[in-house]
Amino acid sequence: MPDVLPRSEGLLRRYAAYLPLTSATPSLSLGEGGTPLVRSRRLVEQVGCAELYFKLEGCNPTGSFKDRGMVVAVAKAVEDGARAVLCASTGNTSASAAAYAAACGLQSYVLVPRGKIAQGKMAQALAYGARILAIDGNFDVALRFARALEDTRGIALVNSVNPHRIEGQKTAAFEIIEDLGDAPDLLCIPVGNAGNITAYWRGFREWRDAGRAARAPRMMGFQAAGASPIVQDRPFEDPQTIASAIRIGNPASWKGATSARDESGGAIEAVTDDEIMEAYRLLAREEGVFGEPASAASLAGALKLGREGRMPRDAVVVCVITGNGLKDPDTALTIEGDMHDVPAEFEAISRALGASR
Ligand SMILES: *Cc1c(COP(=O)(O)O)cnc(C)c1O
Repeated sequence: MPDVLPRSEGLLRRYAAYLPLTSATPSLSLGEGGTPLVRSRRLVEQVGCAELYFKLEGCNPTGSFKDRGMVVAVAKAVEDGARAVLCASTGNTSASAAAYAAACGLQSYVLVPRGKIAQGKMAQALAYGARILAIDGNFDVALRFARALEDTRGIALVNSVNPHRIEGQKTAAFEIIEDLGDAPDLLCIPVGNAGNITAYWRGFREWRDAGRAARAPRMMGFQAAGASPIVQDRPFEDPQTIASAIRIGNPASWKGATSARDESGGAIEAVTDDEIMEAYRLLAREEGVFGEPASAASLAGALKLGREGRMPRDAVVVCVITGNGLKDPDTALTIEGDMHDVPAEFEAISRALGASR
């Protein structure tokens, strides 16, 4: 049984039986997977369901779920004799690709929209030694170029159009089933390029079909209103949202997302930037969970279902918190805080404590 291995073993070993590995696939782990499923203590009431959980994917080694797919994609690239990996990225894919490439001694090349990448993610790609090509164009344009370069000798494309990415990312669904003893009723997840919702649905379906879960959840995907091509059933030329990780106008896994929605009896809906920012703030202040803005789209969606009377009272709900809030310090610093300039004097400090009580 692969799942008796401790979670510290990494995904390739732990879920080997469910991944496309061969005897030639190198072992590789930076400690990805095995992320906490934290039970909501306070927002569960506001959402109006029976149990609410947060799957903390920001606890992965580079701070987002991208590591689950990347460990598989990079191991397979090494197996195939690649000397470099290439991706287009809104930020997290590049951080993850750069880290796993570094661990394997491969060069990484990342194509990013110039000036549109959150600071923390850019810092990571730089630190891990990626060659960063910042282009005048959005993510969708960058991905087009990356795909056109896919057949370049020795370079492996590691965007989620690489099937190994989806395979690795499905392991998050396995972990949720292990932790809850079954699948939840609803899975709320942000949708950008739509690889992750595709992957979760594959994971839930595989383990239901294997008898490891009695059911599969309804898949509830949430796009930002200004970048909601699947909701509106048309590509967005110029997608706009504060949640840069889901600022995508023409998702590569569009079909995977609509299949997940339709086969699970779920929905893909839009949440506004205001709703995203409210959920972002509440998640940190009411639960002690600091996700990045895109991650808060899942909670924004759950709160919206509750507000509109569409959340079943007896439901067990999991919100996927896809990335760590530290990725995007600029956005964090825009929220209203409780900061004061105080003289370095006992009396003044003591008074300030009282004033803020
Ligand atoms: C990549 C990413 C998403 C979107 O996932 P897709 O698979 O592109 O739909 C959401 N949140 C964060 C933090 C991400 O890095």
